[in-house]
Parts: sequence; C-alpha cells; structure tokens
Amino acid sequence: MQGLIMDYPLTLTAIMQRAVALAGNKEIVSRRPDKSLHRYTYREFAQRTHQLAAALRGLGVEAGDRVATLCWNHYRHLEAYFGIPALGAVVHTLNLRLHPDDLTYIINHAEDKVLLVDQSLLPIVAQLRDKVKLEHIVVLTEDGQAPAGMHDYEKLLAGAAGERCTAPTLDENQAAVMCYTSGTTGRPKGVVFSHRAVVLHSMACATVDMMALCEADTVLPVVPMFHANAWGFPYCAALVGAKQVFPGPHLDPPSLLELLAQEHVTVTAGVPTIWLGLLQALDENPQAYDLSRLRALLVGGAAAPRAMIEGFDRRHGLKVLHAWGMTETCPMGTICNLTEDLQQQSEDVRFAYRAKQGRPAPFIEIRARGDNGLVDWDGKAMGELEVRGAWVARDYYHNPDSAECFTDDGWFRTGDIVSIDPRGYVEIQDRAKDLIKSGGEWISSVALENALMSHPKIAEAAVISVPHPKWLERPLAVVVLKPGQSATAEELGAHLASQFSKWWLPDAFEFTDTIPRTSVGKFKKTALREQFHDRFAGTTTESLSN
Ligand code: AMP
Repeated sequence: MQGLIMDYPLTLTAIMQRAVALAGNKEIVSRRPDKSLHRYTYREFAQRTHQLAAALRGLGVEAGDRVATLCWNHYRHLEAYFGIPALGAVVHTLNLRLHPDDLTYIINHAEDKVLLVDQSLLPIVAQLRDKVKLEHIVVLTEDGQAPAGMHDYEKLLAGAAGERCTAPTLDENQAAVMCYTSGTTGRPKGVVFSHRAVVLHSMACATVDMMALCEADTVLPVVPMFHANAWGFPYCAALVGAKQVFPGPHLDPPSLLELLAQEHVTVTAGVPTIWLGLLQALDENPQAYDLSRLRALLVGGAAAPRAMIEGFDRRHGLKVLHAWGMTETCPMGTICNLTEDLQQQSEDVRFAYRAKQGRPAPFIEIRARGDNGLVDWDGKAMGELEVRGAWVARDYYHNPDSAECFTDDGWFRTGDIVSIDPRGYVEIQDRAKDLIKSGGEWISSVALENALMSHPKIAEAAVISVPHPKWLERPLAVVVLKPGQSATAEELGAHLASQFSKWWLPDAFEFTDTIPRTSVGKFKKTALREQFHDRFAGTTTESLSN
C-alpha cells in the first residue's frame, strides 16, 4: 500500500519561493571590494535571480548545462546559487585560490559553458582563457566595464528586466550544484549535488541539535561560497528566511569583526585559521567590538584546537561549534552539540567533548573500519571513517578511479582516521595520509597540534611525519610563535611531555613565520613534508621508550 501524500519535489526553487513569501523584506548585505555595503531584500534578490535565469537562457544555457562561478562571497554569487539551478542548469563553483592549471583542468573536465567572474578576478581568467572552451564569460563588474568579448552582468540582467523565468518542472534528483574537491593528492574530483540533497541538508542543518538556524538569525559565512557551498549556509539561511551577510573579499580579522558587530550577526562559519586570527585580534582589543548577538561560531574544515574553543569561551563568552564534513558530504556530516548527560559534566569534560567533531546529522550514518574490520564505538579504537546518507556522494563525476573511494556495500570512504565513542561522538585523529606511523605505532598529529596550540606562546602549529632511519617515521613540529614571543624546543617538548608518552613527542621543532596554506585555508602538510623530508636523514638512532 502506498502513502497518500503529495509527491512534492524538494528543489531550490521551493526554498527561494518560501524566502520571498515569508521573508521578502529581510535583508541580504554584502561588502563590496571598496568596502561599501550593498543591501537589498530577499524580494529584490528573487527578482534579479529570475532575470539572471532568463538572461542565461538567452545565452543558450539549457537544463543540465554547467555554469561556473569564480567569485567571492556576495549577493550576486547568491543570485547564481539560485538562478542557475532554477533553470535546470548546474552552478559550478570554482575555487579562486587554485592554480590556473587546476582551474583549466576543472573547467574543461566539467565542460562548463558559461563563466560568471568577479571583475577583480579577471587576471585569473586571463591566464586560462585560451585553454578552456567556455562559450560566454560574464563579468560581475563594479564599474560596468567588461573587457571586449565578455558580457557585463548588470547589462545582461537589465536586458531581462521584469522577466520571471518560468522554470521547467524540476526533478528533485537532478543536478543543482557541482563542486570539485580541493585535491591535495591527485586531480580534483567533481562532486555533483542534487536539488534533493541540498534541500535535505538545509533542513537538517536548521534542526536544533545541528545549527538551530531560524528566521531570527543573521548569518555570515566566512567560509567561501566556492568551498562546499559555503557549508550550505546560503541555502539553509534562505530556507528559514534568515538575514544573510557576506564579507566580499575582506577576510582580515578587523574587517570581519567590524561586520559581525555592525550587522548583529548571530551565526558565522569558517576554518580554524580564520578564527585563530580573530581570537588574537579580540585578545589584543577585547572591548573594541560588540559581539553580544553572536551565538555560534561554526568551525570545521580542520580540527578546532581545544585551546581556541576555550579561549573564545572563557575570555570572550563566545561559543565555538565544532563540525566535520567534506565536499563529498555536501558538506555537513557531524556536529558537536553536547547531549543532556554531557551538559551535566565538569567544565573539563565539556571542553574535551566540544573539541571532538561531534555526532552525525540525521540521515547520516557512520562507522569506522580498522585493519580487522569495523571497530567498536569505545572512543579508543581507530579506523577509517565510512559514511552514507541522504546527501553523501555516491560517485564522482566522470572519474574512472571512483570505485576505490567506496566500499563494496556502497559506503563512502572518507580517508579520515577516527575513533567513535559510545554516544556516537566522532574524534578525528588524522587524515589517513597525515597519520604518523612510528615503529609501527600510530601517532595522531592532530592531538599534538592541539596540545601545542594550547601553549600561551604559540600562535599556530602543524605536526608532520618525516622519514626516519630507525623508526621509519617520526613527528616533527612546525611552530609559529605569537608576536614578540620566544621559545625553545626543550620548553615545548616539556609542555607536551606532561600529556603524551615520550615516543609521541616530536623529534624536532622548527620555528617559522608562517605555515603554508591550501586553497581552502588548511595547513598544507604536503609542502611541509617536502620541505623537511630529509630532516632526520643520518640521525643517530637513540632509543625511544615510554
Ligand atoms: P574538504 O572536502 O576540502 O572540505 O575537506 C574535507 C576534509 O577536511 C575532511 O576529510 C577532514 O580531513 C577535514 N576536516 C573537515 N572538518 C574537520 C574537523 N572538524 N576536524 C578535523 N578535520 C576536518
């Protein structure tokens, strides 16, 4: 017997229609390159989104075509987020920090037909224009001056003034958004999200045990809109009708703090490196910004150090919400809110838990596989995290090597090494390729980094595996000290020695001014491993014991 319920497609168009109907006067605020603010309402946004869809159709874009964006976070990017899928086409966000050769590969692999690009990013396009098969380039100009042979976004929209793009009937399973993984190893891989996946992801993110996003919120995603849909914030915020604030290209701590305060932001999101910078700025100038409305800083993309979570909490009364995800999981997989029983525990236990990556979202299943099969949820046994669920990729786009990323029974292999505790809290120990295997035993670089970053003199620390003549691999710590501080390797070793067995302690500490970053702002450990590859060559093999 079938249920007698309507077959209502879960599409992004439905999200937009709801936003206009119920939050039509709510604001969307963006910082322009010159730092001035652009403001308009969801109603105006929706009208322009229709015009964009109609204009793209005029350029020959059809259902299923890929339309790429190369843009910062701002209202016109949001128009693309909704306008392109409304047409039945696929919005393909390009990471503006990638090397032009990678972008060339990605654009050609995705067979993008049209590119929307910020005027300030045209120098990137100049480096790949001759190598890609784009039919049209549309420039999001500030001054109306698109280069010869390219379209001006505003003129295109003006040409479609008053139009309502009568959307084709969309199937909820058709592609809406496409995003390539940042590809630290091998070529970037394309992940294609359906309307249904994005809608269900948005609904789950709004639930109270996830981000509890609601109409009364004001969100500011610092995480780029080219990185896994800005973690779904633009879609989730539109679904609930929350005010949205976009920082444009201004991501330095003072600019962000000013915007967070001025627009009364309640929820913001980004990678730890953004928040480490912000914490330092707040510590130096605690009274300068009124952040009393800010109820959550969502942190993910890399492990949020416990010291940072505590620093925001104790010194500034700000709550860090730790989450884990991947491009392949749309991206939210787990989030760390405390269960009722944990809320009754000591502060120490609560902070220890908040530094974990948390429990799976509804409709996401997790398990971890060690050398001898699935591991117990005992909080200790380590294994590779496998996931499946309503917004987890089941394949990569046109990729012959996809199969190795999935188990025989269809779960996605994340490449993250985790332990899972009896309550279902996941703790990421490492990326499989970042784990350090010393004399056959695993050492977690994440645990060492977190401990180092709790040292009062340390601004940032990355721990990497370096080949060693006796132990095969040993940890090496790369450390950036806070301005004006000095420290010795002995001092830092002693700090770690109180928390870890002797054989876990790094064999060397390298002091540096900066740690190289990946295109999405994470520590670039591949570059560090290359730089320090020979650091222990010829080392005498002194014994390491507990
Ligand atoms: P991306 O697809 O670029 O978002 O990268 C996903 C990867 O980032 C994951 O597989 C993890 O290795 C890492 N990651 C994401 N969130 C966290 C987190 N909260 N803690 C540790 N690693 C994380």
